[in-house]
Amino acid sequence: MAELSTAEIAFRLFVAGVAMVGPTLLFLGFWRFMLWLRDDALIDVLVARGTLDEQPAPSAADVLATATASHPGARRCPFCETRNFPGVVQCRDCGKRLR
Ligand SMILES: [Zn+2]
Repeated sequence: MAELSTAEIAFRLFVAGVAMVGPTLLFLGFWRFMLWLRDDALIDVLVARGTLDEQPAPSAADVLATATASHPGARRCPFCETRNFPGVVQCRDCGKRLR
């Protein structure tokens, strides 16, 4: 077994550190880039023109409603007309039992 020099151990620790921290820094850099890429000024102009009603802020319920509406086997609630995923026993909007 060969003896490792101090410089070689330090180099290996440096490489291990880069391998551990590098992906995190790349992800945070990508995140910052995406925030920079978001064009808030364009959204403000469209809101001022009336093209958009308000600042877009999709909630989790909106995303779920979009996914449910496009689902081929979606079931419609007889009480509130909300579309629900097939197989559910309770309406996700009004909470009444689906039957
Ligand atoms: Zn309902």
